[in-house]
Amino acid sequence: MVDIVDVANDQADYHLQVALQRHTRPVNKPSAQFCEDCDEPIPESRQMLVAGCETCINCQELRERRR
Ligand SMILES: [Zn+2]
Repeated sequence: MVDIVDVANDQADYHLQVALQRHTRPVNKPSAQFCEDCDEPIPESRQMLVAGCETCINCQELRERRR
């Protein structure tokens, strides 16, 4: 039960961050098709959801943890 709640919170946080990024950072450049950090292909759904994204979800999380 606790694990399920944690996952739900993580997802909510993620979507909130995506919404904030889209709101505060107008991006004109296209999303990367491949992650800048690990060269993995980025799913089209993420490319569209996160305009101008540079990394896959995993690397994005790592970047945000480093801040
Ligand atoms: Zn990556």
